Amino acid sequence: MSGRTRVSWNSGVQIEVKGAFNIVFDPSSRRQRWSIAFVSHGHTDHTNILKAGGLHKVASLPTICYYESLHGTPSPFVSTCRYGQRLHLHELRVEVLNSGHIPGSCAFLVDDDQSRILYTGDVNVMSSIIQEGFKPAECDILVMESTYAHPVFKFPPKEGVYLDILEWAAKTALSRAIPLLKCHPIGKAQELIALFNKHSNLPVVVDDIVFRTTKSLYKFDLLFFGSNTPEGREILKSGDCVFISSKPPVGSSLLGRPLKKAIATGWAAKYKFKSFDAAFILSSHCDYYGLLDIVEQCSPKHVYTFHGYSKYLAAVLRRRGYRAGSLI
Ligand SMILES: [Zn+2]
Repeated sequence: MSGRTRVSWNSGVQIEVKGAFNIVFDPSSRRQRWSIAFVSHGHTDHTNILKAGGLHKVASLPTICYYESLHGTPSPFVSTCRYGQRLHLHELRVEVLNSGHIPGSCAFLVDDDQSRILYTGDVNVMSSIIQEGFKPAECDILVMESTYAHPVFKFPPKEGVYLDILEWAAKTALSRAIPLLKCHPIGKAQELIALFNKHSNLPVVVDDIVFRTTKSLYKFDLLFFGSNTPEGREILKSGDCVFISSKPPVGSSLLGRPLKKAIATGWAAKYKFKSFDAAFILSSHCDYYGLLDIVEQCSPKHVYTFHGYSKYLAAVLRRRGYRAGSLI
């Protein structure tokens, strides 16, 4: 915290700058004192504020598209932002950075002339098939997520995981079963569809939710079929396809064919997923080591952590000589 700036948790990450704006990042509900709210990305736990009226909100266009695909039109007073943009809010400048998490996800660098405060949102330094990774920026105060901030979370390089997923799906389809991959419908699903479009001949069938989220952003760039459309059902019946689903059907068969299920998530680095035939460590977040790299490269005077293993990461950083604390 600098003399002029106070960072705290108030339903989201709140930054109060004396004599300037009070701003908030990813709040889950509205407070009266805020001048403006920033929404870092389209995952549902970050977009609640888009339905709140009477508050100016800022989000990227992909974030708004994702939101609209699942929740309808946001309430009024939403401005769109894009990577590289510098917003001027009275005495503050806010630079919009790519956080590398999912399409349209933003980190925000706030400059009040005395200190630079970097809010990472959910963040990933590893590039994916659809997105560049986050590039750390020097700052005085770093406010960072810590979802996977424990040494048990060491994620393998994406290329190897991609190959494993392609091989599993191909072998499963060859065995005349339908390969189903369960994943988050926002971000991860589009990553997997792009993977199969670019590196496999298997047609991609998706469930209703993935159909809506993907269509909102990639109507023309990715090829996929809804499982409830006539084409989608025909392809599923043939078995020569991959099925990407956010909510897998119960049971071990679909349309008369055996169904093999796999899950793609960072949690597979720690947990066994016994109800699935396979689990792939594929994450939209940094692992523990990536988070430590961000801190080193940003070289902050003070670090605040939030989400997941936030207290653990703050303690690790203090042992390494940083002033660090968990916001929640
Ligand atoms: Zn997220």
